[in-house]
Amino acid sequence: MTQFSFSLSATDGTARTGVISTPRGEIRTPAFMPVGTAATVKAMMPESVRATGADILLGNTYHLMLRPTAERIARLGGLHKFMNWERPILTDSGGFQVMSLASLRKLTEEGVTFSSHIDGSKHHLTPERSMEIQKLLGSDIVMAFDECPALPATDAEVAKSMRLSMRWAQRSRDAFGDRPGHALFGIMQGGVTRELREESAAALTQIGFDGYAVGGLAVGEGQEAMFSVLDYAPGFLPKDKPRYLMGVGKPDDIVGAVERGIDMMDCVLPSRSGRTGQAWTRRGQINIKNARHQDDPRPLDEACTCPACRNYSRAYLHHVFRSQEMISGMLLTWHNLHYYQELMQGLRDAIAAGTLSAFVADFHAKRAEGDIDPL
Ligand SMILES: [Zn+2]
Repeated sequence: MTQFSFSLSATDGTARTGVISTPRGEIRTPAFMPVGTAATVKAMMPESVRATGADILLGNTYHLMLRPTAERIARLGGLHKFMNWERPILTDSGGFQVMSLASLRKLTEEGVTFSSHIDGSKHHLTPERSMEIQKLLGSDIVMAFDECPALPATDAEVAKSMRLSMRWAQRSRDAFGDRPGHALFGIMQGGVTRELREESAAALTQIGFDGYAVGGLAVGEGQEAMFSVLDYAPGFLPKDKPRYLMGVGKPDDIVGAVERGIDMMDCVLPSRSGRTGQAWTRRGQINIKNARHQDDPRPLDEACTCPACRNYSRAYLHHVFRSQEMISGMLLTWHNLHYYQELMQGLRDAIAAGTLSAFVADFHAKRAEGDIDPL
């Protein structure tokens, strides 16, 4: 059986490209993972997600443990079978959503107690329970259970929270055990403080994980602060393991993160934007509900090969969005995911060719041109 492994094939500056191998298939890096929160990437069939070029999806432990529950998914054959996605799945640990969505949150050394945002029912999540849930789901890449401090937080609060997360990282490692073909990733915390990031990375490396995530970013600190952490934090992590930046991001966040040595990312943005009439293109962001599109026979992006751009005009996309037709979210989500995956392929190719700086310059130049020329 194929084991979980990571091999780098080229670097360009601090950027890297390679392949993660799993029993469920290969993941080309840098990789963008669409988010399938409730066992579906909203508005997309799984085969359509695959057609955009996605090698792996993300599933949310918090959402799935509440509804339909991990035990029910396990009885039905696991998450891959349940949602008809046979390729790799990464599941988060639940920690972030407990912080951002749940109420009546009570934190102890043991774990966290909270009330469901769906029905107010009471739940308990610990490193051991998070490992159990992710095993029931059948996740290929399991995330260690961590605590995400609510912002704004003082340095002392961030340090205390990070050290708790490192103790939980050890408990996650112990509870995960030995599962050939499955990977466990540790999560670096420490906010925007270099010393805390370094301490967190040292603690995780000491425990030993199959990959390492940079957590606690993209939580409202802004791109400049995020990039300043990414200027040094990936360098604290082992070179031969995948590095995953959680919850990122906009296309220019992704490009900047890849330049700084990140291998994997996830974000709800392309799918969520698709449902609110926002399209991401090489030439920036388009709001399809804008009246300027209502007579425009051209596609969203003339260079895009996705079904929304091949077969439909801006005028049509504008009409179905205004009419609240379901196909609006379907087509715009498809386009956005296609654009994101095409961007990742462009980044991988440029790193392999040693031409990343030219690729990045062209990326920024195209966006600066703005949306397509007037008719
Ligand atoms: Zn398109």
